[in-house]
Amino acid sequence: MTASLLTQSFLFKKILGQEQAKRLLWNALKNKRIAPAYIFYGPEGVGRRLAARFFAAALNCAELGCGVCPSCHKILNDQHPDVSFIYPEVKDIKIENVREIQRMMSLKLYEGKWRIVVLDPADSLNETSSNCLLKILEEPPAFSSIILISRNPYNLLPTIQSRAQDVAFYPVSLLQIEQTLREEGFEQEQAHFLSRASLGCFGRLEGLKSAKGKENREQILKILTAVSQSSVKKVLQYSEKLVLASREQGREYLLEVFDFLVLWYRDLLWIKSQGCEEGLFYPVEKKELMQQAQRLSLKDIQSGLIWLLEAVGLLKHNAHAELTLVATFLRLMGGFGTKEISL
Ligand SMILES: [Zn+2]
Repeated sequence: MTASLLTQSFLFKKILGQEQAKRLLWNALKNKRIAPAYIFYGPEGVGRRLAARFFAAALNCAELGCGVCPSCHKILNDQHPDVSFIYPEVKDIKIENVREIQRMMSLKLYEGKWRIVVLDPADSLNETSSNCLLKILEEPPAFSSIILISRNPYNLLPTIQSRAQDVAFYPVSLLQIEQTLREEGFEQEQAHFLSRASLGCFGRLEGLKSAKGKENREQILKILTAVSQSSVKKVLQYSEKLVLASREQGREYLLEVFDFLVLWYRDLLWIKSQGCEEGLFYPVEKKELMQQAQRLSLKDIQSGLIWLLEAVGLLKHNAHAELTLVATFLRLMGGFGTKEISL
């Protein structure tokens, strides 16, 4: 092992921020004290999945995660027979999912040094599946570990929590994200916008960095223009488009759209209350924002923010997508003067 690998493996260095989590995992690797189960918790896109994959690679690599040996290569490409990722239904982890973990854990190691099973996400284990998982954790097979990916460890039963090692992941600084994006070749303004939109979670940018992401952003700006022009016809058209796109890309897509709308209203609030044009999420659209802020009252903007956040809650609870969108846009339109609404 080279001297640099003693400080940190190649793969671990690729995780942005998360010094505390990396230190904890690195110490476990160095001291060969691996817990039978881990709970990697933190917000969406913060790096929990990447860290789980890198940890599995490091455990099975002679150089603790070189990233290029056959074992690392297989794990990074989902082809290693001893490392499995289980993706249950988000809302209900069925007993079959946990039995699958049980079956995998009972297998002999095929070619690796450690068997790793990642349950992603593990937040919605019901009572039966929790108890089944608990049985595995009570008698863990040697050289095996389960990684539970979670938003919040308190979503899991205390009995499961007590048998697993918590590993916390936190949003990283926006400046750090902006610098990384600049290194990736993004222009200053785009890097600035994306870093702010990431809310400190680099993984949230996956969709946005792509051409598709740029397209989505343009869609959102079109909707905002239609809302500010009180054009019901256009709002209906765009709502339908968004819903169609979400059928392809999943409901997460709509939530992402709403995140952007919330950020837009945050900028309006910023301009209206602080009279400030700096520190905007949308610096490129400053002119449009200033015009809208002038037309809206502070109360309109506050209400708009509340309605958008309410819509996020409704969408998360499977409300009718198109109706939620249309109703929210019409409410926002009210701020621009209901008398001017045109078809
Ligand atoms: Zn390797």
